[in-house]
Amino acid sequence: MPRGANGDGWVVCGQGHRHWGRYGAAGLLLVADDRVLLAHRIYWSHHGNTWGIPGGARDERETAVEAALREAAEETGLDPAAPVVGTVSTDDHGGWSYATVHASLEAPLPLEPADGEASELRWVPVAEVGDLDLHPGFAAFWAQRLAWSHERSGPQ
Ligand SMILES: [Zn+2]
Repeated sequence: MPRGANGDGWVVCGQGHRHWGRYGAAGLLLVADDRVLLAHRIYWSHHGNTWGIPGGARDERETAVEAALREAAEETGLDPAAPVVGTVSTDDHGGWSYATVHASLEAPLPLEPADGEASELRWVPVAEVGDLDLHPGFAAFWAQRLAWSHERSGPQ
């Protein structure tokens, strides 16, 4: 599908936040060998100087998976056909939603920032993700993810 970029723009969701992406946004949670691909956002971007997953605004006719793979490819040079795509977690705010697309590779690939949105890319060990200064949306997602995994594994 040709890139339309018609999803670029700000919206106010049903909870009163201001979000980027007229049709919502999507990000790629790419895991390889117990490491997560994170991008450090350049200082002038929304929530600049924080770490988050590659992603951005969805276009009108894109699925969450298509949008997440396209954005990740644009930001990191990743081959969008390379990851094995799993489940999609959607955080619906009413009028705006963020879809986190879970995907995996067998091993981390060397990737470099490709489009100027990220100043650095890093494969961060899962256990160290919480130590970084995270984008607030990703921080909330990551905290919930840990809660779920604790539920699954039961009391320690
Ligand atoms: Zn919101």
